[in-house]
Amino acid sequence: MASTPRLEVRDLVKHFPVRRGTFAKVRESVRAVNGVSLRIEDGETVAIVGESGCGKSTIARLILRLERPTSGSISLDGEDLLAAEDTIAARRAIQLVSQNPWSALNRRKTIKHTLTQPLKVHDLVPTNVDRTARAAQLLQEVGLSPDYLYRYPSGISGGELQRVTIARALAVSPDVLILDEPTASLDVSVKASIINLLIDLRKMENLTYLFITHEIDIAKHVSDRIAVMYLGRIVEQGPTEEIFEDPQHPYTQSLLASVPVPDPQLRSELKPISGEVPSAIDLPSGCTFHTRCPYVFDRCPQEIPELTVINPSHVAACHLLESGRGASVAGGASHG
Ligand code: SF4
Repeated sequence: MASTPRLEVRDLVKHFPVRRGTFAKVRESVRAVNGVSLRIEDGETVAIVGESGCGKSTIARLILRLERPTSGSISLDGEDLLAAEDTIAARRAIQLVSQNPWSALNRRKTIKHTLTQPLKVHDLVPTNVDRTARAAQLLQEVGLSPDYLYRYPSGISGGELQRVTIARALAVSPDVLILDEPTASLDVSVKASIINLLIDLRKMENLTYLFITHEIDIAKHVSDRIAVMYLGRIVEQGPTEEIFEDPQHPYTQSLLASVPVPDPQLRSELKPISGEVPSAIDLPSGCTFHTRCPYVFDRCPQEIPELTVINPSHVAACHLLESGRGASVAGGASHG
């Protein structure tokens, strides 16, 4: 019998109404998420990869219950999160590390306040003395000395601030961390150290990560599996190694064209992406990637491709794969 995943979303849809005109009538909607299903096992890291505007951060907000989905389900350890009461205790299990540590922390409060507050709110550590000791321990877990307790966000670097936000997320002993572009605002030199810290913490704390990024090469370092997202849909999903060695969807291939891939022949076949992501208000018909796809053919604007099973752990949605052979499209479009 299949095990219960730590986190699962099924057929998740989120459309934001757009109100216009004198009477603010709903004229259209931003179709941010259009039927996403994803499961993350205990202790696993799954990365959602895609360009800005593809809906990946909306998924994070839906899982964190900062937004209600239009339809679909979200469950944690088999329990329906949308049906459960939204209490402080319930929110503890899933924590967020966002891309901008400056806006995530209160500049007027010391790091000690930032780290002891969740321990107090969630009633996890009873006394001030013990909360301070736990805050110092959390700082050490993220590679900072206890001296930082008495500093303010304005007095420390971006990388150090991100370590503090990670420590704050860990303070409540979550089951799942959602890492929404956690290195996007950091210098290149700092990125690697934060990624290595996250990898170490996952092992130490037995955490489950949903890692959201527009940089597929970062996903390679942290994730067990990658879900590639385009305009609110997952277009390819599979083990990280397979995504890098044998990408099936033309969009995945175009994301890989700008990063080092192990196979030189594959590298020479990858075609970089061109053009802008279309508006989520006015989605292209059929395969939404058809306006940018180098392999587009007459069927593409007419029909939405279903996910094709390449192997039991790897799927991709492209009409070129529907022959059942699951052949790589990197070698060329062999449609009729
Ligand atoms: Fe390209 Fe057509 Fe495949 Fe979409 S279905 S990715 S447009 S070849």
